Amino acid sequence: MEVNTDYDVIVIGGGPAGSSVASILAREGRRVVLFEKERFPRHHIGESLMTDTYFTFQRMGLLEKLRQSPFVRKYSVQFANSAGKESRPFYFFEASHHEAAVTWQVTRSEFDLMLIEHAAEQGATVYQETSIRRVLFEEERAYGVEALMTDGSLQQFQAPVVVDATGQTAMLSNKFGWRVRDPKLKKAVLYSYFKGAHREPDLNGGATLVLRTPKGSNGWFWYIPLENDITSVGVVADPEYLYKDRGKDLAKIFYEEIEKCESCRWRVSDATRTDKIYSILDYSYRSKSCAGDGFILIGDAYGFLDPIYSSGVLLALKMAELAADSIHDAFNHNDFSGARLGQYQSKLDKGIESMRKLVYAFYNEGFSFAGFLRKNPDQRVNIISLLMGDVFKEGVDDIYGPMAEFADIPPPLYEQLDGSLIDLEKAAAEEGLSAKYRYYDDRVLQESVE
Ligand SMILES: Cc1cc2nc3c(=O)[nH]c(=O)nc-3n(C[C@H](O)[C@H](O)[C@H](O)COP(=O)(O)OP(=O)(O)OC[C@H]3O[C@@H](n4cnc5c(N)ncnc54)[C@H](O)[C@@H]3O)c2cc1C
Repeated sequence: MEVNTDYDVIVIGGGPAGSSVASILAREGRRVVLFEKERFPRHHIGESLMTDTYFTFQRMGLLEKLRQSPFVRKYSVQFANSAGKESRPFYFFEASHHEAAVTWQVTRSEFDLMLIEHAAEQGATVYQETSIRRVLFEEERAYGVEALMTDGSLQQFQAPVVVDATGQTAMLSNKFGWRVRDPKLKKAVLYSYFKGAHREPDLNGGATLVLRTPKGSNGWFWYIPLENDITSVGVVADPEYLYKDRGKDLAKIFYEEIEKCESCRWRVSDATRTDKIYSILDYSYRSKSCAGDGFILIGDAYGFLDPIYSSGVLLALKMAELAADSIHDAFNHNDFSGARLGQYQSKLDKGIESMRKLVYAFYNEGFSFAGFLRKNPDQRVNIISLLMGDVFKEGVDDIYGPMAEFADIPPPLYEQLDGSLIDLEKAAAEEGLSAKYRYYDDRVLQESVE
């Protein structure tokens, strides 16, 4: 088998995490090779960005391309309660007057294509439609990968660092049994796309809307305006509520939920659906470790948090930056141990926990930001900072003291589990469900459940 040793860093996966770490490292002088198993553009969910992505885009040299893009500008987030009462928008410029207080709503197929092409422009070697079959280990130390090339041949690539950015496949945390499932954040999702749905004419037209479904369902709709008058609309709820005893027709369930949610219903009543209905089980999880000897995990391959605040791409980008810094440090010290590569984990986990607490607060039946802010108006800027993704900011956690009066705030994930691990796939299988992405047309659910 052909063996290639031309590179410093091997990246598996060309989503936002993988393409960003490849761009940063290549720009900063490392020899990088990236493997993506799909041919881009390809569909992906995760369209609403948080404003703090700005600083990673800046480091990657991507800002100008985004400024020139047709993506819708996002200035705010707005919530509606289960009775349909809408909050005042949380404008990011209330917390910052920097250009970074505006971000983008992105069609992921186009955005991810932009990112992977950018990685190549920065000097990374990019192979698309090239799947990594396995990571090569010498005892516990990763030293390369085996790639299935487009001509059908298997090739080995060897390098001091392998970055796992395989998304929810989470290649290495699965291999090591490191994936820890969040005990409470287990949701089902149905989503699709509409043309001609309601849009405010001013800057509110770019807002992400979070529209709670009626009491008892503990769910919500996202409403994300995209370019070309397309709106992404999805309902997130407990799987027991969304699927059990509701019949087999996903479209029927989706439209029933829209009917029940007045603030969504009127917005799409004159719109035309332009795509199939997608179904996903989304379980929040995190890996026990973010690195081992010779390898590092970033993006969804490290952890995934409920989509309520659109934190996925932001966290993927922040992890790409933290990993890039760590990789430079490893080269500078010629030390590729897990301890050095994963030195940032406590900082990262603290940031993720700040966001996770806000997720839990949202799912407390009856919690509303408006109610909390009526009693704690001084916390408005802190809330907006979190909604912007400023999770590493000193003191951003201060809101959880006063918020504990309004909602149960969880202890950190690892403490909550008392060190025991939950196997994501096993837990899903026990419920007769697959934890992997599944896409449906308007077909019956049962046919597609393994
Ligand atoms: C319902 C839902 C809604 C969401 N909404 C939002 C939102 O509004 N905003 C937001 O920021 N985030 C959102 N997210 C989260 C977001 O989708 C992810 O966090 C984000 O895509 C993570 O990026 P990534 O690069 O880690 O993974 P991915 O984007 O999944 O990329 C991983 C890539 O790795 C490739 N790959 C996998 N295995 C291999 C292999 N063996 N060899 C080669 N390539 C491989 C895959 O093909 C894929 O392209 C949402 C998620 C869900 C489930």
